[in-house]
Amino acid sequence: MMRRKLTAGDIIEARCTKCRAVLNHRIVAMVEDRVVRVECNTCGGVHNFYPPGESKAPTARAAARGSAPAPRKAEKKTGKAERDEWESLYNAVDRSRAVPYDINGKFKVSDLVEHPVFGFGFVKSVIKPNKMEVLFEEGRKLLRCSA
Ligand SMILES: [Zn+2]
Repeated sequence: MMRRKLTAGDIIEARCTKCRAVLNHRIVAMVEDRVVRVECNTCGGVHNFYPPGESKAPTARAAARGSAPAPRKAEKKTGKAERDEWESLYNAVDRSRAVPYDINGKFKVSDLVEHPVFGFGFVKSVIKPNKMEVLFEEGRKLLRCSA
């Protein structure tokens, strides 16, 4: 069955940009067989022809945005070797001999100190007059002491 050709003045369904609904429109202008401009029967607005089936809202884009990958955890500055060294010392040591860190304390190499912030640490070197290098879980730190 032949589809009747549309002509200007015919009524067709189209999406109205003002009413935001599919409504009857009167064809205002055509280019060959294609409807280009229509007049809304409801609001009287004249606009380009939008086929009733087409949705303008791109929902796929919003879905694709999804959840951004979590930012990578900042790499610890501590080298893995230091961490391994601390771990093996920590596992081997008798923690009961840990000495609470004290800025006025006297320490010597291989002492085990317990720091209120850094936790257990091993004295790696004592730097006269009053500093020592201690290996903590998070790395080597220079601490005050009364060497
Ligand atoms: Zn309208």
